Parts: sequence; structure tokens; C-alpha cells
Amino acid sequence: MASRRDRTVTERVFSGFRVTGEQHIGNYLGAIRNYVDLQADYDCIYCAVDVHSLTTLEDARQVGENSLTSATVMLAAGVDPERSIIFVQSHVPEVMELAEYFAMLTPLAVLTRVPTFKEKVRQQPENVNLGLVGYPALMAADILLYRASVVPIGVDQEPHLEFAREIARKFNGRFGETFPEPRSVHTTTPLVRGLDGQSKMSKSMGNHIPIGASPAETRRLVMTAVTDPQRQRRTDPGRPELCNVYSLHEIFSPAHVKHVYRQCTTAGWGCVDCKSLLADSINGAFAEFRERCAELAADPDRVRAILRDGAARASAIARETMAEVRARMGLLAG
Ligand code: SF4
Repeated sequence: MASRRDRTVTERVFSGFRVTGEQHIGNYLGAIRNYVDLQADYDCIYCAVDVHSLTTLEDARQVGENSLTSATVMLAAGVDPERSIIFVQSHVPEVMELAEYFAMLTPLAVLTRVPTFKEKVRQQPENVNLGLVGYPALMAADILLYRASVVPIGVDQEPHLEFAREIARKFNGRFGETFPEPRSVHTTTPLVRGLDGQSKMSKSMGNHIPIGASPAETRRLVMTAVTDPQRQRRTDPGRPELCNVYSLHEIFSPAHVKHVYRQCTTAGWGCVDCKSLLADSINGAFAEFRERCAELAADPDRVRAILRDGAARASAIARETMAEVRARMGLLAG
């Protein structure tokens, strides 16, 4: 494997996720799995986003532990700290400074119109804090501080990246060419619906399967999944295309989908049999990952050392960017 020193890849990827606690299988398929693949083509910087998490986290004392868990998940999934930078957002505090400069380039009306801000106002009306309003500015700073030109996102996240592009354009227009306008790579992310079959899998909806769940817990959760409502009795044929369990089979049991389809449509088996196979498939898919997670969790000092090394490498890039930013803005050098 090529080390980070002898590779000649020029484009830089930045991505991160909020450290809001346990990750679920939807997060894994939506983001973390892609982190591993992107390493082959780009210089990657992956961030455990702790500062953003503080805008919504009810108990901020968890945030340190959550950062460690997030890093553990990335490493267990196969992110290679020799090739990629893995670090914790707050360990490179220059990001807060850059976000402040970006905030001054952004009219408040623009920030309060952001759909995710409006959604959070609805979700937590008692805690509409300044950090929540400035969230997009901090997110733009995350990407642009490292002059990343590529950001892996789902199609639905494109508006967030457009905000970062606008900020880059505005800064470049006012102070001179400083930042690349980051483009997206749309990752192949299957839509993983929650166990309720209604909405996207999400921790806040309580319809998720944690990636760290034990095999027994995974099985218990899978057994609660909503199925085709018309399949009332064991003898009723089902409609797999309308059943979320089937859509999870398509992701986790590709070798068995034809069999599942046939068994369902001919009432050849019951939903319990079908879910049991799904639980086996999910547990099989995550067995190695869970083993590596357990190994890393038993050695937190190793994970901390990787994060320190990552922060040192990220800081070197950040210092360089900020020196240029301050000079271009005309701030007096200290
Ligand atoms: Fe869904 Fe499987 Fe039941 Fe068919 S047999 S309705 S695919 S759980």
C-alpha cells in the first residue's frame, strides 16, 4: 500500500459527521463505507465533528466520548490513518476563526432561511442558539480551511455545499482568489429506511439499528420491523416491493433476494423466517467491523494517538490557510 508520502494525488476530499452518539447502519452505508473507497483516489481528511454537535446535544459532557467513538468507527470501517487524516474538529481551532470571518460575509436573512435551521427551530424551540444560525458558516469553514475541492455528499445535501461554494466565491471576489469552489461527488448511497418502514433510518426517529449492536440485539430489532401490511396471515402472499424488510435484503442479502422474493410472493415462508435471514445477513455484514471496533475500543490510547497525529497534520494545513486569509483580509500581522 502506498504511504501518504509517496502518493501524487492532488485533489483533496473533506468530510465529517456530527458526533451525536452511536452510528447506525444507515450512517455506515451512507457515509462511512464511502470514506474507505475514496481513499484510493483522493487525499482524504475525515473529521469527527464535535463543535457542530454542541448546537443540539443535550448533554455536552458526552461529546468527548462520542468523538472517540466516531474515530473508532472510521478506523474499524477501514479508514487508514497512514493515507488519510482523521481528526477531531475542535483540535484545530482555526476553523472557528474562519467561520467567524465567513459569518461576517453572510446576511443573517440567508442563514435563517436555511431549511435545516428552520427544521431545528421546530425541533428545539427552547434552544435556538447562535451556533445553530451560524451552522452553515462553520460547515463552509470546515471544508475551505483545508481547501478541499471535493466533498462526498448525498444528493439531498447539495444545498449545504452550494452555501460553501457561495462563501468561497464571495471571499475570492472580495479579497482575491483564496479558496477552491468545492464540488460534490455523489456517493452511491442506498436509501436505508428505518424499521418503521416510513422514513429514512435515523437515531432521532428511533427506527435505527446501531452498527455496534450485538448480534442478539440486531436480531431483536429486525424482528420489530414493519412489513407489508396486507400480509396478515402466514398463508397470505406478500408484496416484497412494498416491504422494507425486502429492501434491506436487497442491501444486505444480495445473494438471497430472488429466494426472498419467491418465498414472499408464494407465501412459502412467514415474515419471521424472512426477518431471521435478514438478521443473519446484517450480522454477517458487520461481524468483522464489530470485531475491529471492539479491539480499538479496548485500546483508546491508540485511537487518541491517531487523532493527535491527524490534528497535527490538519493544523499544518489550517495555519497556512489562515495566514493567507488574514493577509488577504488586511488584518495586521502580529
Ligand atoms: Fe416482507 Fe419478507 Fe414478510 Fe414478504 S416475507 S412481507 S418481504 S418480511
